[in-house]
Amino acid sequence: MSDFIPVNTPLLDGNEKRYLNECIDTGWISSEGPFVKKLEKEFSAYTGQKYGSCVANGSVAIDAAVRAMKSVYGWADGDEVIVPNFTIISTAQSLIYNNLKPIFVDAEPLTWNMDTSKIEEMITPKTRAIMVVHIYGLPTDMDKVFALAKKYNLKIIEDAAQAHGQTYRDKKCGGMSDISTFSFYANKHIACGEGGMIMTSSEDLIEKVNYYKNLCFSKDRFVHYDLGWNFRMSNLQAAVAYAQFEKLEKSIQKKKEMGAWYQELLKNIPAQLPVHKTAYAENNYWVFGLVLNDDVRFNAKEAMQKLADKGIGCRPFFYPLNEQPVFKKLGISDNIKRPVSARLYERGFYIPSGLGLSEADMDRVVKEVRSLF
Ligand SMILES: *Cc1c(COP(=O)(O)O)cnc(C)c1O
Repeated sequence: MSDFIPVNTPLLDGNEKRYLNECIDTGWISSEGPFVKKLEKEFSAYTGQKYGSCVANGSVAIDAAVRAMKSVYGWADGDEVIVPNFTIISTAQSLIYNNLKPIFVDAEPLTWNMDTSKIEEMITPKTRAIMVVHIYGLPTDMDKVFALAKKYNLKIIEDAAQAHGQTYRDKKCGGMSDISTFSFYANKHIACGEGGMIMTSSEDLIEKVNYYKNLCFSKDRFVHYDLGWNFRMSNLQAAVAYAQFEKLEKSIQKKKEMGAWYQELLKNIPAQLPVHKTAYAENNYWVFGLVLNDDVRFNAKEAMQKLADKGIGCRPFFYPLNEQPVFKKLGISDNIKRPVSARLYERGFYIPSGLGLSEADMDRVVKEVRSLF
């Protein structure tokens, strides 16, 4: 199709090219380059954490964060961490790689975030942490999480891969937990192709993160006491990410305008639109999701196919983690039903939401979505 509108179109209209040229002109292309350090320092300060550590992507950021937590706090194999059931596999996968057990909590039907009223019943003597993931532009309702963490002495891990610059009350997402992670994948608020960051205010945690992400080099270089990974981010990626960070507030403002526009033009369709505002946050529409009403006679998959036939690229919502075939194979699932996330997958999808989308593109998306019904 000639004029296909992809689900994401990044916008690289700031200093990206200039900074990339700087890397090439100076020869600083590896992780030792200055953009890596600038991004670590400035993005973590902006977010409200003392330290940042750049890595290759948002998934390995979680791997390193969880391993550092397990080591610093002395968690045992088999200890449990609460995770949302409606999220990306990277979260639970990191726990499994670290011999920890993910405990899945169903989603809240309107905000699509973890239903924090269902966390407490999942806490056992083995629970060590709650991992929250801010979903699609709206933060998790954190007050309940803070209270439970205090009551049961649990750590908080925050996956803020979709929430750069977003705020929960007066706190920044990624800045209100023991450790947090970000992704800089091409569709995120800060996009450099592939990239990620871990943030914390704990010196012990950041030391471990930096150790694991860099092959566990010791003071005697090439002498190793542990096995690590090479998760380092190159200065080339950091150059693009830094330019994107410089215009983060502007990008978020535009996302909010795009979200408000879709809200206005799609109101009254037989689908639930994203929650615009809650008591603790305003949606910044990382992506614009729709959940088809139960009386609509087609499901999300069929809707996405119809839209694809009209040249509109969409993405399904997350598949419920408790139903992941790989987790069943590994014997990790339980028999508890999570009906909300099951329904979100069945009925939900998101429409083109990238910053590079033109108004004409958005008009076409709206027209085709409306004509579905
Ligand atoms: C994108 C994303 C990740 C993974 O990041 P990658 O950079 O793609 O590995 C993790 N968690 C959430 C919530 C995400 O949206």
